[in-house]
Amino acid sequence: MADNADLANDVVIQRLEEALAARAGAPVHESRVDCIDCDDPIPQSRRVAARGCVRCGACQTLHEDRRAHYAR
Ligand SMILES: [Zn+2]
Repeated sequence: MADNADLANDVVIQRLEEALAARAGAPVHESRVDCIDCDDPIPQSRRVAARGCVRCGACQTLHEDRRAHYAR
């Protein structure tokens, strides 16, 4: 019998899939296993939550900060 954590996980996955499906026209690629910037492994939780991600969380934050800086 599924416990509450299994049921909650199923709901999260279903909502994630719905949200991704709602992104019409947005290409959805498989997430990378290793970060393109630092080569560290990208955690499975991030690879699922940020589908198509190419950087680990730390490098993605730095990347976005640099982009914001150059956009000024
Ligand atoms: Zn990284």
